[in-house]
Amino acid sequence: MRSDPLTDEQREIRDLVRTLARERIAPRAGEIDESAEFPWDMVELMREHELFGLAFDEKHGGSGAGSLMLLVAVEEVSRACATTGLVLAVQELSSLALRLAGTDEQKSRYLPRLASGEWIAAYALTEAGSGSDPAAMRTQAKRDGEEYVLNGSKRFITNAGVAGLYTVFAKTDPDGGHAGISCFVVEADAPGFEVGRIEPKMGIKGSTTGELFFNDCRVPAGNLVGEEGEGFKIAMRILDRSRRSSTPRVARRWGSLSPSTSSWPGSWPTWRRGAKRPGDSSTRRV
Ligand SMILES: Cc1cc2nc3c(=O)[nH]c(=O)nc-3n(C[C@H](O)[C@H](O)[C@H](O)COP(=O)(O)OP(=O)(O)OC[C@H]3O[C@@H](n4cnc5c(N)ncnc54)[C@H](O)[C@@H]3O)c2cc1C
Repeated sequence: MRSDPLTDEQREIRDLVRTLARERIAPRAGEIDESAEFPWDMVELMREHELFGLAFDEKHGGSGAGSLMLLVAVEEVSRACATTGLVLAVQELSSLALRLAGTDEQKSRYLPRLASGEWIAAYALTEAGSGSDPAAMRTQAKRDGEEYVLNGSKRFITNAGVAGLYTVFAKTDPDGGHAGISCFVVEADAPGFEVGRIEPKMGIKGSTTGELFFNDCRVPAGNLVGEEGEGFKIAMRILDRSRRSSTPRVARRWGSLSPSTSSWPGSWPTWRRGAKRPGDSSTRRV
């Protein structure tokens, strides 16, 4: 028999998310996939129940529950609806550049909005000619006084068009190979930033996957994350960490995870001291 590695408190969190997934998310899953529309109502639900904040520190507006609980939540939500689970997983992935390499000022400016879910985030590495090989990317960023000017495009970007903040990789040294790549955060309303075609998909259709264009897109120099030339290392550190949230999503969709997590709870957990229960109309903060 497999043992459950979670503590009592972690089990309460899991049960809370499981109940939410069963009662509020699963009934919407079919419609979301059929309509292929981004599920803002599910985003709102996850905001209300503070799921976006699970992996964020308390000082940045999260609950400090940690990465394990984020993975458990992604697993539970994905069992009910793959699109909604992906929204949760990509929020973590897309916040990691700031969390791993951001300055205190960048963290306090952006992380609370991502932890609350006020802004959805995206991670933009892939280009038409650069998938497995990021060094082949052609998007460039040139310093111009107190700004960087970005030119180029990205492709297959999850949350394109719905994100408020994009983590974008671009070459500050076009001849520098991997060491020429730098990392930036770009707000959705940055001048010169545009969202292009959203791809039609065969599954997980409520999640957007699309193109981004940067045409003399200007961002403040303070939006450089880490140092110039550190982008590739940051990108790989992010992927190393975020692969963990892809696995429970897929595994849970196919029902292959531990039998110890397979039954629905009978009662509402108390860990969040006043958090909303599915169906409650009042909003109460932890
Ligand atoms: C639904 C969806 C969502 C996505 N979301 C994002 C996102 O949010 N952000 C983002 O940046 N990207 C995203 N991507 C892009 C994804 O990360 C890329 O598709 C992936 O990196 C592969 O790149 P590629 O498609 O250009 O394939 P290629 O790099 O052209 O690879 C094609 C095939 O060749 C193989 N291959 C490549 N190089 C080698 C080699 N040297 N040796 C042996 N085999 C090799 C690959 O394994 C693959 O099977 C998304 C893609 C999809 C489909």
